[in-house]
Amino acid sequence: MNEIRQLSTSVINKIAAGEVIERPASVVKELVENSLDAGSTRIDVTVEKGGAELIRVTDNGHGVSASQLHLAVASHATSKIQDADDLFRVATLGFRGEALASIAEVSRLVIRSRPADAEAAAELEIVGGRHEPIRPIGAPQGTMVEVRQLFFNTPVRHKFLRTTQTEMGHLTEAVTRLALAHPQVHFTITHGGRQTHDLTPTSNLAERVAMLFGEDLATGLIEVNAEDDDLQLRGYVANPTHSRGNNRMQYLFLNGRFIRDRSLQHALGEAYRGLLLTGRYPIGFLHLTMSPAAVDVNVHPTKLEVRFAEGGRIYSHLLGSLRTKFLSTDLVARANLPR
Ligand code: ADP
Ligand code: MG
Repeated sequence: MNEIRQLSTSVINKIAAGEVIERPASVVKELVENSLDAGSTRIDVTVEKGGAELIRVTDNGHGVSASQLHLAVASHATSKIQDADDLFRVATLGFRGEALASIAEVSRLVIRSRPADAEAAAELEIVGGRHEPIRPIGAPQGTMVEVRQLFFNTPVRHKFLRTTQTEMGHLTEAVTRLALAHPQVHFTITHGGRQTHDLTPTSNLAERVAMLFGEDLATGLIEVNAEDDDLQLRGYVANPTHSRGNNRMQYLFLNGRFIRDRSLQHALGEAYRGLLLTGRYPIGFLHLTMSPAAVDVNVHPTKLEVRFAEGGRIYSHLLGSLRTKFLSTDLVARANLPR
């Protein structure tokens, strides 16, 4: 009855998939993060039926060699870290070595990849976790991962898929976050044969904001650039004439990774105190850079939440930098901001 048994790899992968792969947007996030980690400068996302039918991410990154293709989709297999100490200096978006194995367990996945020095690409197809033989195929340098019929073998998850429009909204948001973190990368999104986004590469975050949210918001942006020792804050916040009824346009990035952090969002809100009506939230696109050793990103499988060693100092730096910036512009005088 109560006998203890070791779980099979397949069950372990399904459990991991349950934690990380919630919906098509999660697949897109994981695949695009892999493309970014591979140094890609162009990433194309193609979707059918909001991602439920097909998600294809194609990149021009460094690729995976044919002999490593099986490992790429194996669980707990990664090229990004080696030992536990590496966890405190991760510079890549991925490191758990779980994403591809998880996705492959709950979909029909094809990975096709060609490193720069290979004569041809190799392709591996996995159906619900079962590997087909690897075959050579012609393809340009880089990697393509195709995910069809997500959750076809996990009916409960499948039932939780929402309308095409809802899933597309989540998926676009996932790409938006990554595109804001990497303005120098060219991203496209194509849905149902129609290109919905063509985000051309730029060295300027404000230009990327304009591509995503329109010129009107972008022209009123206030630049922030403040350093405190090893802590750097760069980016833009919106003029108080632009605000939202919720905090969803507060894009915070830590060392290139989108994060959600209540405390830092609170600091952002505090900085605008007196500048916005109650119930309105500021808009911001802010990049924090600090030593990876000062932050634990291994708090949650999706890495959305992080833990700072010195949360208080970061809070004060964000709030202080923004207040200083606002005081130095005529925003404060106009809004009659209490000093
Ligand atoms: P992680 O990103 O945490 O290492 P993944 O399961 O997402 O785990 O990927 C496993 C490995 O497969 C990566 O470490 C990387 O070596 C390789 N890989 C995955 N996607 C790509 C890609 N688009 N380009 C190059 N290598 C990739
Ligand atoms: Mg990954």
